[in-house]
Amino acid sequence: MIRKITSIVSCIQKANDILVVGHIMPDGDCISSVVSLSMGLEKFGKRVTPAIDWKIPANFTVFPWIDRIKDFSNDVVEPNLIIIVDASSPDRIGRFEQLLRKGIPSVVIDHHATNTFFADDCWVDPSYSSAAQMVLDLLKLMDVEYDADLALMNYIGIATDTSFFRYSNVDSSVFEAAAELVRLGADPTFVATSILETRKIEELFLERDAIDNIKVLSNGRFAYSYLELEDFEKYSLTEDDFVGFVGDLRSIKSVEVALFASEASKGEAHVSLRSKSYFDVSKIAVAFGGGGHQKASGFTLRYDDNLEDALAETIEMIDSQLQQKEKH
Ligand code: AMP
Ligand code: MN
Ligand code: MN
Repeated sequence: MIRKITSIVSCIQKANDILVVGHIMPDGDCISSVVSLSMGLEKFGKRVTPAIDWKIPANFTVFPWIDRIKDFSNDVVEPNLIIIVDASSPDRIGRFEQLLRKGIPSVVIDHHATNTFFADDCWVDPSYSSAAQMVLDLLKLMDVEYDADLALMNYIGIATDTSFFRYSNVDSSVFEAAAELVRLGADPTFVATSILETRKIEELFLERDAIDNIKVLSNGRFAYSYLELEDFEKYSLTEDDFVGFVGDLRSIKSVEVALFASEASKGEAHVSLRSKSYFDVSKIAVAFGGGGHQKASGFTLRYDDNLEDALAETIEMIDSQLQQKEKH
């Protein structure tokens, strides 16, 4: 482990211009890892470009450095090193994948068990709660001095990827990392209110539609729902504005597996999967070309007809696997 981090540090030492890339459809851990690693590398004396090939959700714009994040359409200086954070496969970094194909040296820092080891040097450790917690260990090893902004940005990913210290990826090291970052100046209430208490009322209306579409299978152990493009358009929202509903489906007492699909554009939907204790949803996600963790994963579904029909195969697979487990 330490040897792996050390080899990443030596890649960093050799490079001057570093591009730090996160994944498309960025979540809190992605944004936090990109920004905090970039801030830390700049303190370490590097020229750094934070990069995410997607629109950053509006509630993150209150945080420092967000306006420095570039997408692929910005003129990005060709770097000597690409560091990819929180992404399990090359298709997850959008158009920045083209730079990997050019043969620019690359490093992956990730905590997904489904990681495909797609860079020259990969530090992948699913025992970490978040990529942000890995960034903290890396920057500490590099003796980077934290100010309050860096502590804040590093804290966000640990808080969000554990759903604010609730999920099974929480262990004592998570609380220790969070406590250390709070001591260094991160404000947990500012993070929680900026992320959790900034919903538009239209999101609640949309939630009403998502609730109307709920179906329950496998004797109550599988709940799913979906929203189509028209549902989002009705309230001038996009699928990026409506995250977290899959967690509400899982919160039903009898539910082991939850699925929520949102149609991003006609013929294309993002499918989110969650499980509560024993079901490995990452296997389902991988079977449909996606990835993730045992209890939280996802994939992109492409289809010609309508979303509900397109989902049938996935739903049938989950339902039958749950029935199998019941028999044993
Ligand atoms: P989400 O349901 O979008 O919150 O994603 C849950 C987890 O699955 C995250 O760890 C994502 O990195 C992973 N994931 C989501 N969508 C995909 C995808 N299309 N390909 C690979 N991994 C994904
Ligand atoms: Mn992520
Ligand atoms: Mn993550």
